[in-house]
Amino acid sequence: MTIIKFSELGLIEPLTHALEAQNYTTPTPIQEKAIPQILNNADLLGIAQTGSGKTAAFVLPIVQHLTNGKLRPSAKGALVLILAPTRELALQIGVFVSAYAKNLQVRHTVILGGVNQKRQVKALSRGVDILIATPGRLLDLKKQGHVHLNDVKYLVLDEADRMLDMGFIKDVRKIVRATPRDRQTLFFSATMPKEVAGLADEILHEPVRIDITPKAITADRIEQHVYHVPALKKGALLKDLLSDNALYRVIVFTRTKHRANRVEKQLGQARIEAAAIHGNKSQAARLRALEGFKANRVRVLVATDIAARGIDVDGVTHVINFDLPNEPESYVHRIGRTARAGTEGIALSFCDPEERHHLRGIERLIKRSIDVVEHDRSDGVENQEAPDTPQGKPVQRQQPKRPAGDNRKRKKNRNRRQNRNRNRNNAKAA
Ligand code: AMP
Repeated sequence: MTIIKFSELGLIEPLTHALEAQNYTTPTPIQEKAIPQILNNADLLGIAQTGSGKTAAFVLPIVQHLTNGKLRPSAKGALVLILAPTRELALQIGVFVSAYAKNLQVRHTVILGGVNQKRQVKALSRGVDILIATPGRLLDLKKQGHVHLNDVKYLVLDEADRMLDMGFIKDVRKIVRATPRDRQTLFFSATMPKEVAGLADEILHEPVRIDITPKAITADRIEQHVYHVPALKKGALLKDLLSDNALYRVIVFTRTKHRANRVEKQLGQARIEAAAIHGNKSQAARLRALEGFKANRVRVLVATDIAARGIDVDGVTHVINFDLPNEPESYVHRIGRTARAGTEGIALSFCDPEERHHLRGIERLIKRSIDVVEHDRSDGVENQEAPDTPQGKPVQRQQPKRPAGDNRKRKKNRNRRQNRNRNRNNAKAA
């Protein structure tokens, strides 16, 4: 296998020097495939998740286009518009733009909700080269006449599937309609549900499709284990595990904001430095938690799926799924927080008997079974339902015989309970 260098992808020296300063020696697969295509002015459909290096894959060639094009934005206009679903991701993209374009004259600004708009309006007044925005605030400022999209030559949609999950698709359509048709459009999504594919179809023009499947990431570099544990004992199990200092920088995922708060509190009571990050926290509180985590003041970051999008912290030693996610794809996103940029990582999942069907969905998606860890907190749950063995075959267990009618009644009650819990969890989900 030949190793490709950034310069061989057609990138100019100020950019390759900026990459050297970041200690990036070789392009990641998405960078290797996407950069030449974007430099070649093609529209792009990239199926890649956070952690694949996709931000550099679109920022680098766009900055190069800007440098070559010598275009200037008009007042309140932007030449490049990058849309991101969350504030964290938007800020993160802004950090990457600063780093990659540091040797070039490129002005960028990030606009997002949850903070005062004054500084954003000021930054936009003269026009910017690159505008990074969350959809809600962008539409809001556009409506107030503080920004227009007539200058947009390059449009990037990042994490389109998350835009859909968060209910932004309508806003995204409105924004895209306000940009000129002769733009170059780059569309990134970790997964491709029907609605997202439909949106891509509408806004891309003869796109090149690049698929960097996350399955390879989960299978290759991340050690994965599952603990079968009743919901009530998950907190105690988490504390047991955290008594091991090898769990040095840990992200714990919960299904709801409320549960994230509860886990944070329980860990605090056990004198384990933890901070929760979710949609109900203010922007300042989220940033404080992230900074603390990066600076090793906070050992455990407790997060919901949506808040975790765009968290870019190197050296996460463990991801713990306190609750299994409803969608198997989210599992892949979550565990991708560890093993970033080529390192190895460990993912541990807690599975209550009612979450077994989620576990099976995950195992189907990643095409392997997850090793089960025997432990003291299992409380005999192994006997309640036949778990899958590492080879994927169910273990046959002897169950005491019950009358058929009794079984039917039990099953009906269990289904009812599961439906109720699912509805409740969906409603509460962040
Ligand atoms: P992203 O998928 O854009 O969120 O990037 C994931 C992480 O990979 C970030 O921490 C980047 O700093 C890092 N990264 C991006 N490209 C490279 C590269 N070519 N070599 C090493 N690390 C990289």
